[in-house]
Amino acid sequence: MPTALRVLNPATEELVATVPAAGAADVDAAVTRAAAAQRAWAAAAPADRARLLRRFASAVDARAEELALLEVAEAGHTLGNARWEAGNVRDLLDYAAGGAERLNGRQIPVAGGLDVTFLEPLGVVGVIAPWNFPMPIAAWATAPALAAGNAVLLKPAETTPLTALRLAEIALEAGLPEGLFQVLPGTGPVAGDALVTHPGVAKIVFTGSTRVGKAIMAKCADQVKRVTLELGGKSPNIVFADADLEAAAAAAPMSFLDNSGQDCCARTRILVQRSAYDRFLELLVPAVEEVVVGDPLDERTQMGPLISRAHLDRVRSYVPEGAAAVVGKAPGGPGFWFPPTVLTGVAEDAPCAVEEVFGPVAVLLPFEDEADAIRLANATEYGLSGSLWTRDVGRALRASRAVRAGNLSVNSHSSVRYWTPFGGFGRSGLGRELGPDALTAFTETKNVFISTEG
Ligand code: NAD
Repeated sequence: MPTALRVLNPATEELVATVPAAGAADVDAAVTRAAAAQRAWAAAAPADRARLLRRFASAVDARAEELALLEVAEAGHTLGNARWEAGNVRDLLDYAAGGAERLNGRQIPVAGGLDVTFLEPLGVVGVIAPWNFPMPIAAWATAPALAAGNAVLLKPAETTPLTALRLAEIALEAGLPEGLFQVLPGTGPVAGDALVTHPGVAKIVFTGSTRVGKAIMAKCADQVKRVTLELGGKSPNIVFADADLEAAAAAAPMSFLDNSGQDCCARTRILVQRSAYDRFLELLVPAVEEVVVGDPLDERTQMGPLISRAHLDRVRSYVPEGAAAVVGKAPGGPGFWFPPTVLTGVAEDAPCAVEEVFGPVAVLLPFEDEADAIRLANATEYGLSGSLWTRDVGRALRASRAVRAGNLSVNSHSSVRYWTPFGGFGRSGLGRELGPDALTAFTETKNVFISTEG
């Protein structure tokens, strides 16, 4: 197992940093520190917790450009995306801070006394994050967990530990207590597994592949450890013949090319009603070809490189040799580049049509009618996101209810807002993050009955 993590710039393949990898003993020591910090934090007044989290949000805001540039360097994100990501961390902290003061229990009518519920913090929460959105995904769990009175141990992905480490420093500068939010860079099988199996960690929030998520869920069962899973996706983009085809075709490329397709919500299955298929394809070709792929630091760039050479090879393996495809542009030379690609004429059950490629590759498939569209949309083991394009309000509602996915959008591709719930059906995950109830996922409900008879 490596004792250090080598962080490469995916656009240049240059070494950005070398970071010592945490081992099981480091995790154990961090749990001890976190448990002590958590007891004091949970006992603090909710308004004090809220104030410190707002300070943390302001400190992130003040360093947003520095964090964005770090994300560009370690993850190859476009500068525009990276700036949005730093702002998202600020907003998540700010939104969760208000929750600390609104973590209300209930009063339930009973005979002979008073019945109330309390939302108690869990204790120490382990957050295991992927490399595709290192900052926002770490903050999705960290912000509400802290606001609800927990301590957080964050294990970032092997390839992207730098923004997480910087966020932990900023938290201390903002006044968060020592030990309350610690970052443990390391490998999944060592540092990640140590968090999953440690009896002092009350909950794991895991975002990553379905394969690793299933293994973590099984290990958590041993201690009946709480778990939230945000896993893979293979989301449909359903275009009915009555839709605004120009708008649907113009929006389709970035719905699967944003972040180079390394997005669990990427709309990589473009399903088009057969009667509109030829027209849609005609409109899609220039839209794909015009996407600007290149230097992430150039503000005009819309798509950057993939995260690593190994991932590039994996993405390439999904594209059959000589397949019919609409292909965009990509730079040559160093860096992990793959061009925007829409495969046509593939079988509905081909690996590229049902498995998560996690790269800038989509398939275009025809369907006959509404029932056929729903059948095709639901024909994967996943259920994370999806979009529908139609001018028929009734159809939009019927189809929205029929597609088995946690996050749908009609005549748009938006799916993630920090103030609306997010999560997957089926093998896309378990539990929900974000939204008005985000804090309750980091609490246990305790019911107390107080007799008035004595
Ligand atoms: P991954 O499963 O390989 O790794 C994710 C994290 O788990 C990393 O930090 C890794 O070190 C850790 N890990 C690996 N093995 C482990 C083990 N045995 N024990 C504990 N931790 C372990 O996933 P990835 O390639 O980094 O991320 C891409 C995946 O994440 C895609 O499948 C994508 O769809 C998914 N994703 C899902 C969402 C969502 O919200 N549903 C969001 C983003 C990404």
